[in-house]
Parts: sequence; C-alpha cells; structure tokens
Amino acid sequence: MDLLKQKVKEDGVVIDERILKVDGFLNHQIDAELMWEVGETFYDQFKDEGITKILTIEASGIAPAIMVAKRFGVPCLFAKKAKPNTLNQDAYTTDIHSFTKNKTSHVMISKEFLDENDRILIIDDFLANGDASLGLNNLVEQAKAQTVGIGILVEKSFQPGRQKLNEAGLKVSSLCEVASLAGNKVTLVGEE
Ligand code: 5GP
Repeated sequence: MDLLKQKVKEDGVVIDERILKVDGFLNHQIDAELMWEVGETFYDQFKDEGITKILTIEASGIAPAIMVAKRFGVPCLFAKKAKPNTLNQDAYTTDIHSFTKNKTSHVMISKEFLDENDRILIIDDFLANGDASLGLNNLVEQAKAQTVGIGILVEKSFQPGRQKLNEAGLKVSSLCEVASLAGNKVTLVGEE
C-alpha cells in the first residue's frame, strides 16, 4: 500500500533499532483517509472468505480494525486488557506479552461475542514477535471459531513474528514491510 509506505518513511520516527514510533498517523493522531484505504485493501484480499468478525486488541489496533469492519459490514471486536475484578467465567482469557511495553497483560473477550460459527480476520497495527496475534488466535481457538487470516499494517520483517504465525498455520498479509531500522533510518523490504 503506497500511502502507508510513504507515511512510514516520511512520518515514522525510529526510536531504536527495534521500535518505530508512528504517532503522527496511527498510534496517537490517526489518518482517517489512510485507515479507509487499509479497509479497502484488506477487503479486496479477504472478501471471499466469509469473514464474520474483525478481531483486534486494544488500543492501537482498534482504529484500523474498525475501518476494515466497516468495509466488510461486520462487527469489530477487540480483546480487552482485563483488570482482575472485571474477569468472569463468561470470558475467554489469555496472557499476551507486549513487545513495546515489555509487560504481560491478561486479556479477555466476552463469550457472548465469539462462537464456533465465527470466521475471524485479525487486524493489528504492527507485527514484531507475533505474541499479540498468537494470543488473539488462542482466544479464537478457545471459542472453536476459525482465524481465516491476519492483516498487519506494518510488519517488521527482521523480527520473527511472521515465521511464528506461519508455523502456527496462520496466513499473514502485511501492507508495509520494514526490513531494518538500523542507522536511525527506515528501510523497507525492496529498498535494501
Ligand atoms: P508482537 O506481539 O508481534 O511482538 O508486537 C505487536 C504489538 O506490539 C502491536 O500490537 C503493537 O501495538 C506493538 N508494537 C510492536 N512493535 C512496535 C513498533 O515498532 N512500534 C509500535 N508503535 N508498536 C509496536
């Protein structure tokens, strides 16, 4: 997706060799036009798959996920980072380690919103080590639903996320692949 690649190159801020800040268009201020294009692109890729729900994790996945959901005409469901007192037996739960915050969150989805008839497209802003997507897929499996695919906006190809997801039998589609953040510079796949 050319617009996303352009934004990543021009507005992405390299924090260190592993982390890219995208507050200008995705994680703080959100470029609505860009999110609309994300919705169109994933719809084109997955429109024949019988998707019943878009699944993401709060908070940064919600903006792209809701636009994808709008395009498919299905609900957008997000896993909540649960506080112990909000947990109950009517929820699927798992632990997800956050790459950027280096902390593990207990996340939950209420059982009323996910069941064995659901065909799920997972959407997330970044793919690094794959923990967020694997955790979301774990919730889908608990519900005996099916993950049809995983749509990622920015994949950091120098990290093992894709390989881990593929090993788990999951299909990954990313819109922008970052080959390296070395030298305080964003290098996309194909530019090396
Ligand atoms: P993973 O679970 O694949 O290791 O990491 C994906 C999650 O961590 C995403 O939900 C995203 O919020 C966050 N993340 C991973 N890498 C980056 C990054 O370089 N920049 C930002 N802004 N978020 C990231």
